[in-house]
Amino acid sequence: MSSLEIYSPTDLKGALRFIEHEDKGVAVIASGSDLMPRMRKRQVSPSVLLDISSFTEDLRYIRQSGGKVHLGALTTVADLLESPIFYGKLSIIREAARLFGAPQIRNVATVGGNVCSAASSEDLIPVFMALDARAKLISANGERAVPLKDFIVGKRATAMRPSEILSEIAFDLLEGHSWSAYEKLGRRNMLIVAMVNEALVLSLEDDLSTIRTARVALNRVSGKVPALAVATNQFLAGKKLTGVTISQAQAVLASELSLTDDFRGSGAYRTEIAQVYLKRLLERCSKQLGGFS
Ligand SMILES: Cc1cc2nc3c(=O)[nH]c(=O)nc-3n(C[C@H](O)[C@H](O)[C@H](O)COP(=O)(O)OP(=O)(O)OC[C@H]3O[C@@H](n4cnc5c(N)ncnc54)[C@H](O)[C@@H]3O)c2cc1C
Repeated sequence: MSSLEIYSPTDLKGALRFIEHEDKGVAVIASGSDLMPRMRKRQVSPSVLLDISSFTEDLRYIRQSGGKVHLGALTTVADLLESPIFYGKLSIIREAARLFGAPQIRNVATVGGNVCSAASSEDLIPVFMALDARAKLISANGERAVPLKDFIVGKRATAMRPSEILSEIAFDLLEGHSWSAYEKLGRRNMLIVAMVNEALVLSLEDDLSTIRTARVALNRVSGKVPALAVATNQFLAGKKLTGVTISQAQAVLASELSLTDDFRGSGAYRTEIAQVYLKRLLERCSKQLGGFS
């Protein structure tokens, strides 16, 4: 049996020094709600766990400043629900947090852990992609920001280097005629594991009928990889928001999705739900903005 060490440095600097020359044997652990079940199933077998859960002073915060929102990596889903920021235009975060697991899990599950798990069942990844969020990665040698769309590079794979920790997710406040919304389907009403989840940030021109930008993101676009629906977003930009446009966008979305079957549902069913959600999200956002009805 292989041994497992747990390293709990007293500060963030110590943690970064520890992984400075690391290869792949170390796994960062926040609350462990994703990592521990995977270790139990032997899907991952790190030799060292680097426990960052005590760095709440450095990594647990929700800040709004200079037109941006900053979420520390140790911010929990329950923290998101309690924040007054995620009403109105940014209610997408609140919607996703409300549909997340159950209270026990929301109290511990972190924003950083959700994003770094890079799984296709996560609620926050499509939401942050639709918001055009950036991941702030820190190491002993400095920091860099990676757009979330480039951070997820495959199934359970990120652009993070072994010497890095995710410290923050940041995104701009929505300006002008913009709104956001989220939909999620699972196979039960509690502790819903997403079969399909879809996020939209919609921005309309002053006429409230022309789409300036649409950012649709899903938990799966090709295989089991969360991503932006790039072709759909390109199609929608500049179009009048009408029933015909929505039908055409649904067809574009279906053609860009390449989904596989699994025990939760078939690729064909997921594609159909994604199309239904696209219509619903576009209608919900534009109604909030006083447009299309
Ligand atoms: C019962 C149950 C219900 C759940 N329901 C949902 C749900 O509804 N929606 C949903 O999206 N998820 C759900 N999850 C999955 C899980 O709770 C979330 O993914 C959670 O956000 C993970 O956060 P964590 O702090 O537990 O991450 P951990 O398990 O500690 O870590 C997850 C991964 O991220 C890495 N990591 C964590 N933090 C960092 C960091 N700061 N820098 C670098 N790497 C890091 C770890 O090495 C690991 O690979 C559920 C899990 C359980 C057990």
